[in-house]
Formats: sequence, structure tokens, C-alpha cells
Amino acid sequence: MKINGNFDKLVPNYLFADVARKTNEFIAANPDKKVIRLGIGDVTLPLAPVVVDAMQRGCEDLRDQKTFKGYPEYEGYDFVRNKISDYYQSFGVKIDADEIFISDGAKSDCGNIGDIFSQDNTVLIPDPVYPVYVDANIMAGRNIIYAPAGEDDNFLPMPDKNVKADIIYLCSPNNPTGAAYNFGQLKEWVEYALENDAVILYDAAYEAFIRDELPRSIYCIDGARECAIELCSLSKTAGFTGVRCGYTVVPKELVRGGKKLHDMWYRRQATKFNGVSWAVQCAAAAVFTPEGQRQCRKNLDYYHENAMLIAKTLDELGIYYTGGKNSPYIWMKCPFNMSSWEFFDYLLSNAAVVGTPGEGFGSCGKGYFRLTSFNSHEKTAEAAERMKDILEFRLNVNS
Ligand SMILES: *Cc1c(COP(=O)(O)O)cnc(C)c1O
Repeated sequence: MKINGNFDKLVPNYLFADVARKTNEFIAANPDKKVIRLGIGDVTLPLAPVVVDAMQRGCEDLRDQKTFKGYPEYEGYDFVRNKISDYYQSFGVKIDADEIFISDGAKSDCGNIGDIFSQDNTVLIPDPVYPVYVDANIMAGRNIIYAPAGEDDNFLPMPDKNVKADIIYLCSPNNPTGAAYNFGQLKEWVEYALENDAVILYDAAYEAFIRDELPRSIYCIDGARECAIELCSLSKTAGFTGVRCGYTVVPKELVRGGKKLHDMWYRRQATKFNGVSWAVQCAAAAVFTPEGQRQCRKNLDYYHENAMLIAKTLDELGIYYTGGKNSPYIWMKCPFNMSSWEFFDYLLSNAAVVGTPGEGFGSCGKGYFRLTSFNSHEKTAEAAERMKDILEFRLNVNS
């Protein structure tokens, strides 16, 4: 018996453990200081009332012999898939209901989708980005190359014609940078994928945060149906991080090696996944009703106000950042040329504000820092005020 030796190649990531340890040490040493957490990568507002009502009705169905449900369909119930198809239509994208696979979240699908691809593929992953893509592909033993991002491209890396990749992960709006591709930029990625016979795995977990005229889906781009799979989630858009529901789109035109990836993904799910519970799918369908959209939008607006407050503060301080407008994340350059961890310590000890050091999301994150809008208005405003107090003086002296 041999274990999967690829696990030895995983780089230990103590980032969130280190953040928690340093924060707890600070609280123990400074019991009088009120720590504000702007490092939270999880929603903080409760579910929309219509969503909870639908979930409750779903539970009641299970109490009654006549409405009881056993195993769901692997790919999700039609009434949910139809609603998601209509949702795509609402921003001008035509996706058939039977191209949509309901899942227990985008994180699982980001990794599981690898089952339908050979281990021999080279995987291109932006840096910095959500660490799941890298670790899932290390576990699978695939060769990984990086698309480095930085201030030159405002953290939106573009394809390099000299680099040959088979699988490309893109995340827009991005976690952690909050940066979002425009139509022209995504078109370049689609063209690159088509030229290289590659497949784009497009993580659209934050599409509902988009406010500018930016693509909400990779399928806004011509040709994407022949080269892209889209991963979506109700986690950030509807507060489902604890409930668990997402969906993945595999268009029927997507063919590689003479096989429809749609059929391969169906077979994979039918083999290793037994579907999402009835009550959760009832709740998911409620998200896509007009009232569900209105109520979820209220929460998104709340986070948006927080993001804009942080953005305004950084504008006033003259600090470079991306994100905020179309994302719950703000990605700022650490002032005074501090490293990510130096700035973490500086912000914690002087302002009692916690954020996330950028280097936890890839080596190009060194010297940057992620703040999130997942907190209350009051605490976000207080944190912004404290940051201004500690940075204004020093930035003015420097300039
Ligand atoms: C939070 C997040 C997800 C959502 O994952 P779920 O499993 O649906 O909760 C997916 N991708 C990115 C980039 C995320 O930040």
C-alpha cells in the first residue's frame, strides 16, 4: 500500500492559523482594546427570509408520506435548474437548464472537476488567487504554472502566447484581489483557450457583486461555450456558506478528445455524488425568485457600502488598491514598503484591526493585504477611522 505521495508536495499553509494565533495573543495582552476583524472571508448577514421560509417548507415536505423525498437527482431538480437558466437569461446569457449541475458548493466542484481531465495536463493558475485550485491540482499530481499578477496589470493577468497551458483557472471578481475582468480581457482568454485547445475553469463565485458594465459570466464571450466550464456558488451571493449549495455549468458544445465534457461530468457526479438535499434545493430556488433576488440584493448592498467605505479611506490616504466596487474584497498595497506580515502586526498593534496578509494567496501577494466587507457598518467605519488615524500622519510625513 502506497499513500498519495503528492500530499508531500503541498506547501503547508498556516496563514489563517497564524492570523488567529497572533490575534488571540494580542487580545490576551490588551483586554481593553476592541479588535475589529476585516479579515473575514465568510458572510456575516443572515439568510434572506424567503429563503428560510422555502427551506422550512422543504423540511415539512419530508414529514409527510405524500411529499417525502429520498435521493435527489444527481444533477439537481429541474425546478432549480430552470430558475438558474432564467437567471442567466436576465443578464443576456443563454444556458439550458440541462447544462447546469447543482452541487454542494463551488469549492468541491473546483477540485472534483479534475476527475474528468488527465493527470498529464499543465494547469495555469493566476497568482494571487483562491488557494484551492493549486492544492487540488498538486494532490492530483498535475504540473502547475502561474500567471503572475501585479500592479502593472492591476492584478488581472492576461494570457502569455509563449506559455502553453491545457487547463486554466480564472476567478473574476477575484478572491483575494477583488479585481474583475472586462469583456475585452475575457475575450483574450477565450481566444487563447480556443487556440491552445485548453479548457477554462471560470470561478464566478462573486458575479453578483459586479456593479460596473463587466461580464457576469464567461459565457458573455463568444466562443466560451466551446472552451469553458463555469463554477458558481450561492455562498457569497446569498449567504449559503453554511447551508451549502452551488452550481456548475458545462455547455454541450464543450468537446475534447471526442467526448462531451458535459456527459463526463454527469457520469462523474452520478458515481461520486448523491445530490443536494431537498430542503436546500427549495431554498436555492427561492434565491432566484424576484423576492429572493430583492432580499439577497439588500445584503449585497450592505457589504457594498462597507467596501466603499474602506475604498474611500484608502483613496484619501493615497494607497494603491484593487477591488471594492465589484467585490467584497479590497486588496491594498502595504504602506511604507512593509511586508504583508509587517503590516499585519503594525495594523493589529496600533489600530487593533485584523486583515489577511496577501502572501497567503500566492507569492505575488507579498507586500499586499486583503480587507473584506463582511462586517457591520459600525465596525467597518470604526476600523476605517482607526486606519486613517495611524496612517495619515506617517504617509504625510513621507510625502
Ligand atoms: C468562497 C469561494 C467559493 C465558494 O465556495 P463554496 O464551496 O461554494 O462555499 C468559491 N470560489 C472562491 C474564489 C471563493 O472565494
